Amino acid sequence: MKRVSIFGATGSIGQNTIDLIARAPEDYHVVALSGGRNVAQLSEDARNLRAEVAVTAYADCLDDLRVALAGSGIEVAAGEAALIEAAARPADWVMSAIVGAAGLAPGLMALQQGATLALANKESMVCAGPLMMATAKAHGGTILPVDSEHSAVFQALVGERMEDVERIILTASGGAFRDWPMEQLAQATPEQAATHPNWDMGQRITIDSASMFNKALELIETREFFQIDPAKIEAVVHPESLIHALVGFRDGALMAHVGPSDMRHAIGYALHHPERRDLPVERLDLVKIGALTFRAPDELRWPALRLAREVMQAGGLCGAVFNAAKEVAMDAFIDRRIGFLQMAQVVEEVLSRLSAHPGNLDAAISLDNVRHADHLARETADDYITNG
Ligand code: NAD
Ligand code: MG
Repeated sequence: MKRVSIFGATGSIGQNTIDLIARAPEDYHVVALSGGRNVAQLSEDARNLRAEVAVTAYADCLDDLRVALAGSGIEVAAGEAALIEAAARPADWVMSAIVGAAGLAPGLMALQQGATLALANKESMVCAGPLMMATAKAHGGTILPVDSEHSAVFQALVGERMEDVERIILTASGGAFRDWPMEQLAQATPEQAATHPNWDMGQRITIDSASMFNKALELIETREFFQIDPAKIEAVVHPESLIHALVGFRDGALMAHVGPSDMRHAIGYALHHPERRDLPVERLDLVKIGALTFRAPDELRWPALRLAREVMQAGGLCGAVFNAAKEVAMDAFIDRRIGFLQMAQVVEEVLSRLSAHPGNLDAAISLDNVRHADHLARETADDYITNG
């Protein structure tokens, strides 16, 4: 039996992971499940999967969780320290599917106990890629990508040598506003941004898809995960979202990963790795699909892509600042305090203010320093949004 834990179990990735595990309950022992305010979902899944412990991120949800799990024998806990404690419980496979920088510490703890970390939380790699990789190496942990593009690249690289890789191409759907005229973007609402043409995902990553901050994070994630020169990483708009990524080799060959827009594909690959097992995903009918199309990404429409290049160039703690500023800007957009186009302005301003004092950003990438940079970036973003 594989011992598994799922952080962010109540979210979109978490629920898709549970869908796969619940199809073969005899194969898994569920150690920990975590969620946020959705106590009903968390407790229902904890009961169905007979988890050892259920953890809510929020202390004010603990009583509700305790009531919901009364008599089940399942332990309950709340708060950040409890999440980290749950990640320290021995498990073979841990899904990291919390959204945002909050996913970093539990993921690091899972690596420290030598688990295989299925990484959906791309923010971990953006904020602290070198720390994630070093922690895995030091403790015998393994990181398997769950982001669909990175899973695709990982699969295209099986049996290959990194020195033969000439380029990695990530595809982007273009998100909700791909075909909107530029003048309209300033008026886009959070509801419009949170509607995705192809994928059914959490609210935040869907908004990130519309602004291309998702692809920006993924460019950095690619750099960190595959340790590849940023100049070799490209993004291309592919409205059908059927090719997830391509790897180009020195002989000109391109290996593409093609599959339905269903995250159970990438989750299942990480769950069964190094084997392949049957997965309940659609089999593509290529004749019915007919054509796959591609467009160049417009950096005027999507300044996030340019900012990601600058962050990769600068290195250090810039990734942590980039991500934190983006999280605050998105909160402000969701609260209608700023417009859609201002999210990138906030991120650019925070990067520029903080990099004016290099001491802020060139410290070693430890968890403490990442947290400090994250905190500074949030304060600076708040200040800029409030006071200009
Ligand atoms: P979601 O919003 O649907 O779920 C997020 C989960 O994290 C929930 O369980 C929520 O309770 C929990 N959470 C939120 N804030 C938290 C906090 N501060 N502390 C602890 N827990 C918290 O998000 P999602 O779409 O499932 O995405 C999860 C992660 O996977 C993100 O990093 C996202 O970028 C990545 N990802 C998602 C998809 C997708 O298809 N949804 C694809 C690729 C990568
Ligand atoms: Mg992705």
